Amino acid sequence: MSDASLLELTGLRVAYGAIEAVKGIDLHLAKGELVALIGANGAGKTTTLNAIAGTLPAAGGEIRYDGARINALPAHRRLRKGLALVPEGRGIFTRLTVEENLRMGAYCRRDAAGVEEDMDRIFSMLPRVKERLQQVAGTLSGGEQQMVAIGRALLSRPRLLLLDEPSMGLAPLVVEKIFEVIRSVAAGGVTILLVEQNAHLALEFCQRAYVMESGAVTLSGTGARLLADPKVRAAYLGEL
Ligand code: ATP
Repeated sequence: MSDASLLELTGLRVAYGAIEAVKGIDLHLAKGELVALIGANGAGKTTTLNAIAGTLPAAGGEIRYDGARINALPAHRRLRKGLALVPEGRGIFTRLTVEENLRMGAYCRRDAAGVEEDMDRIFSMLPRVKERLQQVAGTLSGGEQQMVAIGRALLSRPRLLLLDEPSMGLAPLVVEKIFEVIRSVAAGGVTILLVEQNAHLALEFCQRAYVMESGAVTLSGTGARLLADPKVRAAYLGEL
């Protein structure tokens, strides 16, 4: 693995019982990269993110993060090393307030002053969240909940942020807002792996992308190259 790599998957396999959902994939992210993982429903994208975050075990292959093999490391230890997941469906605690949800993200930190600094930075990035700090999170709109989920992940001070379909179920204008937030997080130096159903959006937004089909990576390259690829255009961009 080169020094500049933050994450490297080699032959990663993940199974649900006898069903192998991820069948030996290779994927790498350099420090500071913004990379998309696209593919049809059931291709194995969420499973891949969960294996990286440690919420699902790898059945084979290797996950290397910041130079070390982390296959056996539990999820909370990965989080402490800066590997944060914003799960599909957001994983918001609906009965807690926005502020309580955000602070959950900092539960393993001991630097109270740093947490407050990060809260302020997050508020300037997400003013809407600041306005609603005392609101019960379950009463927020879908877009606001997504922002809280991203804010919560940022409070762990991630170096690698795994985002699972942040645009899911949101109106186009709200999606634009969420993607602006993701762009500013990336500009702040956080490496990002983004799972996205909307292939067009993902390929325009990210520097590079991987395409998954039935548990395997079938294509990878720059967003521009994949946008021009006839197979991608036919399968994912609705063209014949
Ligand atoms: P989606 O966009 O629909 O979330 P995906 O690419 O993220 O799709 P996964 O959710 O990773 O795909 O699912 C990959 C495969 O694993 C699918 O065939 C799915 O049915 C299967 N799978 C996912 N979760 C489980 C589970 N808990 N138990 C058994 N099989 C599962």
